[in-house]
Amino acid sequence: MSRSDTPRLVGRLAALPDYVPGKGASQGCEDLKLSSNENPYPPLPSVVSAVQRQAGRVNRYPDPGCAALVGALAERLDVPAEHLVVGTGSVSVARLLVRATAGPGDEVLYAWRSFEAYPIMAEICGATSVRVPLRADDTHDLEAMADAVTERTRLIFVCNPNNPTGTVVRRAELERFLDRVPNDVLVVLDEAYIEFVRDAEVPDGVELYRERGNVCVLRTFSKAYGLAGLRIGYVVAHEPVAVVLRKAGLPFGVSQLAQDAAVASLRAEDELLERVELLVKERSRLTAGLRDLGFAPPDSEANFVWLALGDRTAEFTGACAAAGAAVRPYGADGVRITVGLPEANDAVLRVARGWRH
Ligand code: PMP
Repeated sequence: MSRSDTPRLVGRLAALPDYVPGKGASQGCEDLKLSSNENPYPPLPSVVSAVQRQAGRVNRYPDPGCAALVGALAERLDVPAEHLVVGTGSVSVARLLVRATAGPGDEVLYAWRSFEAYPIMAEICGATSVRVPLRADDTHDLEAMADAVTERTRLIFVCNPNNPTGTVVRRAELERFLDRVPNDVLVVLDEAYIEFVRDAEVPDGVELYRERGNVCVLRTFSKAYGLAGLRIGYVVAHEPVAVVLRKAGLPFGVSQLAQDAAVASLRAEDELLERVELLVKERSRLTAGLRDLGFAPPDSEANFVWLALGDRTAEFTGACAAAGAAVRPYGADGVRITVGLPEANDAVLRVARGWRH
């Protein structure tokens, strides 16, 4: 019997494309890293202290149920603790949601462009991705998405605001869409950037989850709360979804450092949301500045701005890099620029000023 001398791998995993993380900024200047939608502000002293207190105890396993955080979130969101599942970043919870609902022969539906991790999650689980193009104004085409639902659809992602365009879906159209989706299809409202939303017509997904058993809401501490490096996010989901996630999740995945930092961040929420407000102001300034220079970014409700530069995407990315700033290119579609501190946004505006349209 002839045997291969390398372990046999699941073909579709071996064929996965590499995940391309946002590039670091050149010249060692972290403030100019505008490629990963991170929060530019360092953690608050109270959050650092919580992590330091826990650092001397890392010989112990963390609380697998994340009880303190779940308790705090349940109270804040007014949801049953049993409906909360915490994971190592909302991306891991999202993957678990796909794992819990879809396998070979099943379909996972989402808009495109949207969050780069969705196709990878579907692929890992052996499910088929169904991508519905964004409308010309870079917003979700919810009508077309509802039309694309089939017998095989198991999960739908609605990324609100959408990464990388920053565009939103509003309450009325989202409710119309949800009315059309069969009750046995899970709809995941990915609200990683919800704290940056200022459009009053954008719904709080938790309100929609309350009324509908097939709707769940993904949130993260990575963006507004500035804990990207600690990996912690969660979902609000009805039973039996939450029950399955708890059983299928990685045991002890979320470190106690992350749990304590998240609890401390909730306590310091007012202070953190003041920083979010500064970033929202910078978003307006960056957007207006780019428009004055002849660019056409869509209105963004997130902590980044999208420029559909087509085949000049790489050129713009290169010009930013030459100025020391890292932004995120998406093939020949466009560039996503994370809103940073004022100086970093100024650096991007300087590059934009020298741009020939
Ligand atoms: N959802 C969206 C739309 C995102 O853009 C991101 C981060 N890029 C995530 C989820 C995941 O964030 P995290 O895993 O850090 O919670």
